[in-house]
Amino acid sequence: MPDRTYLDWNATAPLRPQARAAMVAALNCAGNPSSVHSEGRAARHLVEDAREKVAALVGAESKLVTFTSGGTEANMLALTPAVETAGNKTGCRRLLVSAIEHVSVRDGGRFAPDAVEQVPVTPRGVIDLNALAGRLAALAAKGERALVSVMAANNETGVIQPISEVAAIAHEAGALLHVDAVQAAGRIRCDIRELGADLLTISAHKLGGPKGAGALIRRDEALHPAPLMRGGGQERGLRAGTENVAAIAGFGAAAEAAGRTREADAARMAALRARLEARLKGVTPELIIFGAEAERLPNTTLFALPGAKAETAVIALDLEGFAVSSGAACSSGKVQASHVLAAMGVSPALARGSVRVSLGWMTAESDIDHFIDAWIKVARALVKEGQGMAA
Ligand code: PLP
Repeated sequence: MPDRTYLDWNATAPLRPQARAAMVAALNCAGNPSSVHSEGRAARHLVEDAREKVAALVGAESKLVTFTSGGTEANMLALTPAVETAGNKTGCRRLLVSAIEHVSVRDGGRFAPDAVEQVPVTPRGVIDLNALAGRLAALAAKGERALVSVMAANNETGVIQPISEVAAIAHEAGALLHVDAVQAAGRIRCDIRELGADLLTISAHKLGGPKGAGALIRRDEALHPAPLMRGGGQERGLRAGTENVAAIAGFGAAAEAAGRTREADAARMAALRARLEARLKGVTPELIIFGAEAERLPNTTLFALPGAKAETAVIALDLEGFAVSSGAACSSGKVQASHVLAAMGVSPALARGSVRVSLGWMTAESDIDHFIDAWIKVARALVKEGQGMAA
């Protein structure tokens, strides 16, 4: 049995060997991609080659890929009232986000806090399309154009959102659609045109690239969010600053590798996840799996044992050699129950016990079996602790 087993791929994925090799090669390239000499042109070539690979992963034209410092920055770049389209230079008055978005979207980007509204989700963790349509119709009747932001798949539950339906509803009401595909890209098919997204965010480190690189992809050239960073005019004026050539090269290599093995990896991970969930339920039948009735990413499971505390579970599993994460977030020294589970109507007590296990292309069947052995040990202690607390 290995010393450590990494089962937290939704937090970040290990660097793919192809990405590491591309980064090491790029670190030896001295030029600035904006310079006209040979060294500069060599660096430019690395950036443009990566742009094509990232574009291919999401079915976009490479000139519509803007490199950023990650998913968070791409979301910030997308979420601005100052977004121009071919027929509309006035921008968007309101931002509608689903209640389960990553905090980098939920915080509203560059919209004023009172211009941001949350759209509820169903108990299965899927956006409530009727609520979205109703709210958009009301805004359209007042002549208020909206930007809608809905994630392709949720980072905690893995629940996949009905993006093409969201797109149809948004476009029908004259709204624009931004999709945070950070968790979905490389794991399920994510084609910007098929999805109907106007803007799409992806992040390198979730698909085996380096941390600190991401991209905002546009559906057409006329769509222009106001830049966050102004200066040297890099990235077609959308993101100034000398490009992080090595990180971008690693991102491109990871995107290419993820795209090549996506279908085979997804089938393998779905089988591993099914094995994991069946065995978890077998040894702890009272365990609840969140979002299990909805379509989910093949690699993600979020579950809770009633009465157990997630922090204790995560620490105990860590001591057993497993890296997993808790659905609860710790801020200012307090553990807060997940906003995702709260939006799905899960009680705070149950949500506080939620543990996320996320798999990746390196996860093996033996990792799942060893995890179950550890879970049997840990769950016993967790239940005892819970009973002690209740007494
Ligand atoms: N969006 C989602 C759904 C995420 O899960 C994350 C990271 O966890 C982000 C955005 C932020 O991406 P990054 O870490 O590249 O800033």
